[in-house]
Amino acid sequence: MKTYDVLVIGAGPGGYVAAIRCAQLGLRTGCVDQWLDPAGKPSLGGTCLNVGCIPSKALLDSSHHFHNLAHLLPAHGISVKDPKIDIGAMLARKDRVVKTLTGGIAGLFKKNKVEWIQGSGSLQSHGKVAVSGHDGKTETLGAGHLIIATGSVPIEIPAAPLDRDAIVDSEGALAFREVPKRLGVIGAGVIGLELGSVWGRLGSEVVLLEALPEFLAPVDRQIAKEALEILQKQGLDIRLGALVTNARKSGNAVQVHYMDTAADEKHELEVDKLIVCVGRRAYTDGLNLAAAGVKTDERGRIEVDDRCRTSAEGIFAIGDVVKGPMLAHKASEEGIAVAELIAGQSAHIDHGNVPWVIYTHPEIAWVGKTEAELTADGIPHCVGSFPYRALGRAHGAGETTGLVKIIGDQKTDRILGVHIFGASASELIAEAVTAMAFHGSTEDLARTVHAHPTLSEAVHEAALAVDGRAIHF
Ligand code: FAD
Ligand code: NAD
Repeated sequence: MKTYDVLVIGAGPGGYVAAIRCAQLGLRTGCVDQWLDPAGKPSLGGTCLNVGCIPSKALLDSSHHFHNLAHLLPAHGISVKDPKIDIGAMLARKDRVVKTLTGGIAGLFKKNKVEWIQGSGSLQSHGKVAVSGHDGKTETLGAGHLIIATGSVPIEIPAAPLDRDAIVDSEGALAFREVPKRLGVIGAGVIGLELGSVWGRLGSEVVLLEALPEFLAPVDRQIAKEALEILQKQGLDIRLGALVTNARKSGNAVQVHYMDTAADEKHELEVDKLIVCVGRRAYTDGLNLAAAGVKTDERGRIEVDDRCRTSAEGIFAIGDVVKGPMLAHKASEEGIAVAELIAGQSAHIDHGNVPWVIYTHPEIAWVGKTEAELTADGIPHCVGSFPYRALGRAHGAGETTGLVKIIGDQKTDRILGVHIFGASASELIAEAVTAMAFHGSTEDLARTVHAHPTLSEAVHEAALAVDGRAIHF
């Protein structure tokens, strides 16, 4: 039996990063992954690279450029007559981006001497894993330590069964061959807003049906309110308190029935395509966890402690398959920490300091606590905010929508949360994460020199505003 110091199951951003770090630390490492691309070829990178973060951002960028031709560039004196979009070319570009990056991981595996084992892994007792290869052969591998990083898959709901043509999940929505005239989206969460934005910018009439009465419940209320207004202005028809009860294909269209829960009224909607994006569930199918004594929680996630240790000795689990936000960077950080723990180092994951980004335009980004959470926890706090419209650079760029909001502890001034709605929020939030990692105060940010003219000046001014001393607003 072939044996490894560490065997990783799953090569998404959790698993592949863990495998590379293990190998860097001198551990003999194998990584089992079952992903096949549309051509039936094994592909590394998991959900994130193949059908998640990367292809969705490639389409967001393409559609943003197209949208800007009509909506941003004329103000700069640049006009293009009758701009057109070639969907085939846009999808081919997205596929090339995915191929380059998944191929890049294969290169990193080679360089770091991580063995890529192509097939499905299933646990057996005593650190053994049975692998069913794509070639139909099965082999048993041994490992001193196991890291489970099998990720997540979209939740399917009986009210809207997928037919993978007219009714699709996020993966299907990354590959529409033409722009749907009428697009329905169930769930105005992260995926609904990002993919709704992609197709809306390209010309679809987009209706998002969201069961909850609140828009983006985890987001700071002021930011969510401003974002809702702007996204609706962009043409996204976001209907809150809209619980889908039934959706079926009928002829060439999809009939969607939903309840307006506030008015207690039934409604019907006809669309050409329907995306179901109502959350994701931890994926442990076929893993045979019980054989190794690995426990799951009430939501089917693998139970872990704060160091990603499962209930079974020597077996760790990371990423979407365990508790916490389903984010690529959270999975990767857990992967690095676990590799270092296995190598005998001390490692720490600060789960309270993980940034979120929703890649609409403008972007929504945050880290730490919201005002509502702090109020509920009885923590006295101070708030400073600063609008993009008071920034010189924002005017130059034509990006005056949005704000930065910083929340500090009233007693200690330590930064407790930063919330941004605006252009490049995904980049600006990194400064807040770094300041919080160093346990920084709002005064630290206020006394840090920021280049002029930049959008990052909004972070500086919001920090000054915590103490009522913003200069430009
Ligand atoms: P995954 O990436 O899901 O990888 C798990 C891997 O394990 C897969 O390759 C799977 O085939 C393999 N596997 C499963 N079971 C077995 C088995 N038994 N044997 C062998 N292999 C197995 N997150 C962000 O942070 N930023 C974003 O912008 C972002 N955008 C997203 C957009 C979309 C449309 C979607 C769907 C997700 C997005 N996410 C984003 C979420 C992100 O993709 C996940 O959080 C991330 O991929 C989780 O990484 P992971 O390693 O835990 O699992
Ligand atoms: P989500 O939890 O963000 O949103 C799902 C939404 O669907 C919720 O608002 C929920 O109330 C609603 N919903 C549930 N059932 C419904 C029903 N029957 N009718 C109408 N609405 C219903 O989940 P998602 O958008 O599917 O994304 C899954 C996860 O993937 C995210 O939580 C995130 O962790 C990850 N992701 C991250 C990014 C990013 O970081 N930019 C992008 C995409 C996905």
